[in-house]
Amino acid sequence: MSEQPALHIEYVDADPVTQALCLRYWRVEGGRFVETVARIYRDEGISQTEFTALVKRHSRAWSTVIKCMRCGEPMQFATRSDYISRAERRLFRCPACIATEQEQLETAKRLRIIEALDRGMANARPLAQLDPRHCLYLWALLKYAGSEDLGYIRAYCKVRHERLTPMRDFDRELINELWRNGVIAVDPDSISTAVELDSEQNARVHFTEVQWLPTVRGASGVLLYELLEAHVLDPGFITAGAASLQACCDHLALLECLAFLEMALEEYRLGYRAGEKTRAMIVTALKVFTVAQVCNILFRAARDAAAFYQRGGVSRDHAAKSVVGSFERLMEKSIANEWVVTPFRRNYNLPQSVLSRLLYNRLLGTDDGGFTGGGSLLQGHAAAVP
Ligand SMILES: [Zn+2]
Repeated sequence: MSEQPALHIEYVDADPVTQALCLRYWRVEGGRFVETVARIYRDEGISQTEFTALVKRHSRAWSTVIKCMRCGEPMQFATRSDYISRAERRLFRCPACIATEQEQLETAKRLRIIEALDRGMANARPLAQLDPRHCLYLWALLKYAGSEDLGYIRAYCKVRHERLTPMRDFDRELINELWRNGVIAVDPDSISTAVELDSEQNARVHFTEVQWLPTVRGASGVLLYELLEAHVLDPGFITAGAASLQACCDHLALLECLAFLEMALEEYRLGYRAGEKTRAMIVTALKVFTVAQVCNILFRAARDAAAFYQRGGVSRDHAAKSVVGSFERLMEKSIANEWVVTPFRRNYNLPQSVLSRLLYNRLLGTDDGGFTGGGSLLQGHAAAVP
């Protein structure tokens, strides 16, 4: 406290009585206020509220020592408690300088994003040169999060009405893949808090909070959307991109199964994050069964895991992990005995994703074929195209 600096008082009112009152309020000696506030307002026969308002209205208190690091403006105090809490703070920037710095920061952020967008546009490729999978992804992303005029892609965190892909984790991967491959760039009109600058002034974006612009040569907005749709629905598209699209179908099938497993276990309150082994097992099963059939086997495996837990003596985590072994046994038995596994219907809580709808319903002309059909659906379709 003894280190606290003296105050310079400015009076707004020339009246000496008012000035004397304000001085009593602000008088500091040896870092302490000389009089208590209560004593002053009682002496004057006014309420505390009236007294504080009077001091605020008629005087300004400035530090004689602490000055703004940027412009040299002394620190100003609004009240005694303001003085007590801030008078030790030597590194100080005044409100005007903070506002200026904030403005400069905003400009710098926007500039970085504009530069990145310019680079993206300079390297933009026409639709025909994009990986077919990226065309499909961009189509799905525009459908999922495109703004009303299709001028930009809304921030992922702002869209909640449906699913882009069967799993949220993969939604982010999809956006990331488009970004890393120069198919989209961060929109400079993104909310400023979604972008930060690191110590080297490089922009770091909060991935799900920024909005995006497609960077495709020769078209944007509605025109791009129309060209993209026409490009994807062109009969030659499937033939030309068969391998890439098949990989997309395979991955979607895996995601459908993982999303189903997650939900089935959640219903038994067995939280579980599928690892490599589970994924590999599902991929194997999908070589023989449709997604709808694999869901049946997964459902039984989840039920077994729940029963295992209910018998007692094991943790939820341990029980949940037993789902992999259970699934493997059920799958092997079904194959060995040539059992006909009844396909499940799509679960109400896991509606068909936008990507699946575009790929299966629009492009391949099968109603939710990714769920009900077999893995060779695309190959069959591609072969049928002359
Ligand atoms: Zn300043």
